[in-house]
Amino acid sequence: MQNLTIKMTKIELRQMFQNKRNLLKDDDIDHLTDKIIICLSEQLNLENKKTHIFLPITKKKEINTYKIIDFLRTKKCKIIIPKSDFKNSTLNHFEYTSDTEIKITEYGIPEPINGIETSINDLEIVFIPLLCFDFIGNRLGYGKGFYDRFLSTLSEDCLKIGLSHFDAFESLLPIEKFDIRLDYCITPNRVYSFI
Ligand code: ADP
Ligand code: MG
Repeated sequence: MQNLTIKMTKIELRQMFQNKRNLLKDDDIDHLTDKIIICLSEQLNLENKKTHIFLPITKKKEINTYKIIDFLRTKKCKIIIPKSDFKNSTLNHFEYTSDTEIKITEYGIPEPINGIETSINDLEIVFIPLLCFDFIGNRLGYGKGFYDRFLSTLSEDCLKIGLSHFDAFESLLPIEKFDIRLDYCITPNRVYSFI
């Protein structure tokens, strides 16, 4: 039955996966993050890449991407982080350096307040938040389409890599024409490749 689309709505699936995450403690998140970094380091070439990555929303129990950023810096990656524009449901992009000041917004999102806005034309890797993904790389986000909009503007060569607490969902997710698939998804257990 693996090839059937699940008869649940995106809204129901988001709730189910956020509930699953909410059971995790801070230590669990750190442990899952460490395992993700091991999978990343073993299976992907990350040397010297211009890399886009989100900062973690703690109340949503997101993967601790600060640790991933520390790891990417050891690989000499240039780090770009997003800043959300809720009026237009779009993202703006800033270089993340030791001088960048970060503030938690009213939505609980850590964002740069004084960064250098940067072009995304030559991004090589984007790490993408998600609530769940399936075995062909479909992704379910938080429901505002920020990443579908952003990913639709990237060059073909840029690798789109999801970061997930859990392994692939066993059925196909409901998707719509604007949903953009992942190239890879990294979980604490393995790297899924969809290319
Ligand atoms: P998410 O990807 O966050 O799970 P959805 O896929 O449900 O959320 O998308 C949320 C909304 O974003 C959609 O209803 C759609 O109208 C809008 N959207 C997504 N991608 C685009 C796009 N490329 N251009 C304009 N609107 C988009
Ligand atoms: Mg979507």
